[in-house]
Amino acid sequence: MKKKIVIFSDLDSTLLEHHSYSFEAARPAIDLLHQLGLPLVFCTSKTRAETEYWREKMRNHHPFIVENGAAIYIPSDYFPFPIPEAKEVSDYLRIELGTPYKKLREFLIFCRNHITPSVRGFGDMSLEEIMSLTGLSAEMAALAREREYDEPFVAQEDKELNLVKREAEKAGLKILGGSRFNHLAGNNDKGKAVLILKNLYTRYYGSITSIGIGDSHNDLAMLKIVDQAFLVKQYNGNYDHRVAFRGLNYAQGIGPEGWREAIFLLLKNLGR
Ligand code: MG
Repeated sequence: MKKKIVIFSDLDSTLLEHHSYSFEAARPAIDLLHQLGLPLVFCTSKTRAETEYWREKMRNHHPFIVENGAAIYIPSDYFPFPIPEAKEVSDYLRIELGTPYKKLREFLIFCRNHITPSVRGFGDMSLEEIMSLTGLSAEMAALAREREYDEPFVAQEDKELNLVKREAEKAGLKILGGSRFNHLAGNNDKGKAVLILKNLYTRYYGSITSIGIGDSHNDLAMLKIVDQAFLVKQYNGNYDHRVAFRGLNYAQGIGPEGWREAIFLLLKNLGR
């Protein structure tokens, strides 16, 4: 019997086009996964509220990972066995891996006061500013602000960012580069969260082939932990040079176009 394929995918600038947030180019591949009954798990730096919005848009009913691996949400009746490390939260079982947002905000404010005033996070920005930096509508920007474990921020120069990085390490925190922002988070990453779900799926299906698709530095840990990893091009037509390792597959297209290519190629190679 063929192994079940499970796909873990980033959203921003991968499945969603960088500027328009459109997934139209990927739709044929999303539909095909749906027809074949292959789970598509979103693994994103977005908040739970934002991810729920995109799940609904794409009629996705699978578990999802938010805020760079800080929490895993599993629909309550999804796996037919108990998950002791998970807590019931509305219609989900939630596994928490992240550091509370309040602690991240305290650290960022410390950096602004003691390292550089140019460091500014979502918590310092008005809704209008977030809208202009992200290109999101007011409704979506409001969902993006509902942060629980990860603070997107900007810093003026690389030199300043490096100082903040060093300070974060001392505080047991981490900074990852996303497609738009730097992200301050605790000791979580997408890889740790994907590994937990991989193990749950393996328990459920016996054996799986895990796939990862991403575009940037915050996807690296996820891409390294799956059986087959695909990197799509960023909106400028280049690959993120921070993501490189042996066995990584390079999709030819930008964002959702690369995503569609990757899925079609993969299914062909695996004989589906
Ligand atoms: Mg991305």
